[in-house]
Amino acid sequence: MTGLARDGGLLLPETFPDVSDRLAAWSGLSYPELAREVMALYTDLPADALAELIDRSYAVFRTPEVTPVVPVGPIHVLELFHGPTLAFKDLALQWLGHLFAYILEQEAGVLNIVGATSGDTGSAAISGVRDKPRMRIFVMHPRGRISPIQERQMTTVLDDNVFNLAVEGTFDDCQGILKDLFKDLDFKDRYVLGAVNSINWARVLAQVVYYFHAALHVMRATGAGRVRFSVPTGNFGDIFAGYVAARMGLPIARLILATNENDILARFFREGEYRLGRVMPTLSPSMDIQVASNFERYLYYRVGEDPARLSALMEDFAATGTLHLDDGARAERDGRFAAGVGDTQATLDTIRMFADRYDYLLDPHSAVGVHVGLEHLDDDEPTICLATAHPAKFPDAVRRALGRDAAHHPVIDELQHLPTRCDTLDADPATVRRYIERRALHPESRNPQPNTRDQPRGTTIHDHETA
Ligand SMILES: *Cc1c(COP(=O)(O)O)cnc(C)c1O
Repeated sequence: MTGLARDGGLLLPETFPDVSDRLAAWSGLSYPELAREVMALYTDLPADALAELIDRSYAVFRTPEVTPVVPVGPIHVLELFHGPTLAFKDLALQWLGHLFAYILEQEAGVLNIVGATSGDTGSAAISGVRDKPRMRIFVMHPRGRISPIQERQMTTVLDDNVFNLAVEGTFDDCQGILKDLFKDLDFKDRYVLGAVNSINWARVLAQVVYYFHAALHVMRATGAGRVRFSVPTGNFGDIFAGYVAARMGLPIARLILATNENDILARFFREGEYRLGRVMPTLSPSMDIQVASNFERYLYYRVGEDPARLSALMEDFAATGTLHLDDGARAERDGRFAAGVGDTQATLDTIRMFADRYDYLLDPHSAVGVHVGLEHLDDDEPTICLATAHPAKFPDAVRRALGRDAAHHPVIDELQHLPTRCDTLDADPATVRRYIERRALHPESRNPQPNTRDQPRGTTIHDHETA
């Protein structure tokens, strides 16, 4: 349940188990069966508890395959958007919600999750935590500055343990407030604050599973011995899960890293320098990231698993905004990786081409990955492109690409008709802190069930809290 380690570093398993001799046996397993095998290698949870948590996490997906693979033209599309919020973050956050609830039950503890979101993570986290005992979740978003769909995906969740906070400010204001809250260790401990951000190892672990599931499926279907994955990348969490799968012996010939114009990671793998730039807004907002929080995990392996050297590099980066590896860090030095950029034009062109040619609708994030994946096709190694969101979540980009309203999903269409609940707060740490203090679960609560909120369900409440 720990995000950061005590010394500010990230957590990793001591070793990666080699499973290459089990791949044949794993090849026909269902998604939940495979998840049990993979996750059991990294946890000491009792087998029956693990199985139950996994079954519950993935039963809510809208297709029995959980993450189906669809052949489309020259590639295979790995559809990761069949979860409750229609984005791949559900794969990890549904699991995390059940896992945390289980641990809290064992330890008779409580947890107040606090987060800030500019888009997808907030709704997936809320969906994972809603209705779980012993947990509350407070999610800040910049009022009026996230897409109406993303806002409604959060504010239409009316469970009593969910608190949506529309902050009168920017996303940076929200993140600043969050940092402020977590820096106050006394407050953090007293109110048992936690996070579910993308550096959580259990989140990465859940994502390892679909690399196995997809690769085994495609190898079985095509007879190929190795595959490539193309991954639309922001925080390096998703593609790092692919790296873990490869280190465990899954025959991944290439991990193709795809970014939008915010290309710090693509530049690192192509030119050898990790240099901070300014964040540019694009059609794929969940990838508008400069400092990739999971990249440090990969760097650890690149510097020969030397924590002192890694710490020095990270400190250097924090001070100068640039990171150099002595070896030049070129992609050739880690042949597993290739990298490329899909800019706005490429994103629109790819959406259009796949709609026209294959009658297949891509969302803008997935289109970035497909664009770069197409640049790295190979005759003997099938390319699996990760589709990270349903196109209906980003109808404006699709409309811009096709000139018509093509992207729909009943879940998204229905959002307009649902009641919402959200409290508007000033962008002031003290105000947010007071808000949380008054509503957080306390460790000594005798009945830590999410039923103590005294507001009626299903109504629209705009509770303008003032200082
Ligand atoms: C979060 C997200 C990404 C980026 O994933 P990372 O793990 O941050 O690299 C890509 N696409 C969508 C739709 C996302 O929500």
